Amino acid sequence: MDEFELIQRYFERANSSAGVIVGIGDDGAVLSPTPNKELVTVIDTLVEEVHFPGNTNAGDVGYRAVAVNLSDIAAMGATPRWMTLALSMPASDSSWLAAFSGGLFDAASEYGVALVGGDTTFARQTVVTVALSGEIERGRAILRSGAKPGDTIFVTGTIGDAAAALETSGDQEVDEFILQRYLRPSARVQYGQALVGSASAAIDISDGLLADLGKLLTASHVGGEIDLGCLPISAPVQSRYSESQQRGLALSGGDDYELCFTAAPNTLPDSDGLQVTAIGVVTQTPGLTAKLGGENVPYADPGYRHFQ
Ligand code: ADP
Ligand code: MG
Repeated sequence: MDEFELIQRYFERANSSAGVIVGIGDDGAVLSPTPNKELVTVIDTLVEEVHFPGNTNAGDVGYRAVAVNLSDIAAMGATPRWMTLALSMPASDSSWLAAFSGGLFDAASEYGVALVGGDTTFARQTVVTVALSGEIERGRAILRSGAKPGDTIFVTGTIGDAAAALETSGDQEVDEFILQRYLRPSARVQYGQALVGSASAAIDISDGLLADLGKLLTASHVGGEIDLGCLPISAPVQSRYSESQQRGLALSGGDDYELCFTAAPNTLPDSDGLQVTAIGVVTQTPGLTAKLGGENVPYADPGYRHFQ
C-alpha cells in the first residue's frame, strides 16, 4: 500500500461539515467560511513516547489527536469546522491505520468537523499533528487576557483524572473511568460556545491547573487566589489517593482538557449538566496563591514544559 492508496483508504470520507468546496485530493483544500465570522485556528502534535506510550491503542491516539485541538477551540468559544492531519509513522500497518482513522473520525463526527487534507510521511516514530479551524462571531473570541479583579475562577468537570491514569499505567487494576479520561478526553466545545459573552477569560487545562491558570492570570495582568478545598476531584480519584495526593494530581497533572475560566459573579450560563466549580477569585495583586482552610499553602509547580 503506497502513500496514495493509504490516504484514499483511510482518510478520504464524505465530508461532515458544510463549507468544504474542495477537500482531500487536490493541492489544497478550498473552504468557504460563513460570512461575517472570524476564523480561529489551532494546531497540536502528539509524539509517540512524549505524549502517549508506544503501546497506546491506535483508535485512542486518533481520537485524542482531534480532541486536544477541539479543546483549544472550546477555550476560545469557537465552533470547530475543518481540520488537516500530518501523519508520520514507521510503517503503513493497515490494522493500526484502520483503528487510528476510526478513532479520528469518531471525534470528528461527534463534533461536526471535516478532514479536508493532510500529509503522510515515513518517520522512525509515530508523530500525529492535527490543525483545526473553527469559526466565531466577529470580535467574540474568549481570550486569556480578559480576567478582572473580583471575577470568580471556575473549572469544568473534574481535574487530576488523566494524571492518575498516567500514574497507574502498567498497573494491573486500572480504573476504567480514570483511563478513559486520559485516552478519550471530552473537549468542552458546547460549553465553550455558551461562555461567549459571559466568561471574561478562558484557557483549557492541558499542562495542569496551576500552570494553565497561571498563564491566564499573567496574560490578564492580574493574580488569583484559589481554595484547594474546592477543587473538583472525581470519586475514583478520591477513593484511590490521599487528600494531598489528590490535590497534587489536580494542581499539577495535565491532560484533562477541562476549561478554566473567569467570569463576573452571577453570570454563569447553563451548563446542561456539566459540572462547573468555583475554585477561587481573581485578585489585583499578581501571583497565584492557594489556600486551604483559610491558610496559605505553599506549592511549587510550573506544570509540564518541553525541553526542561
Ligand atoms: P502534495 O504532494 O500536493 O502536497 P500529497 O500528495 O501529499 O499532496 O497529498 C495528496 C492529497 O491528499 C492532498 O489533498 C492532501 O491534503 C491529502 N492528504 C495527504 N495525507 C493525508 C492525510 N493523512 N489525511 C488526509 N488527507 C491527506
Ligand atoms: Mg501538491
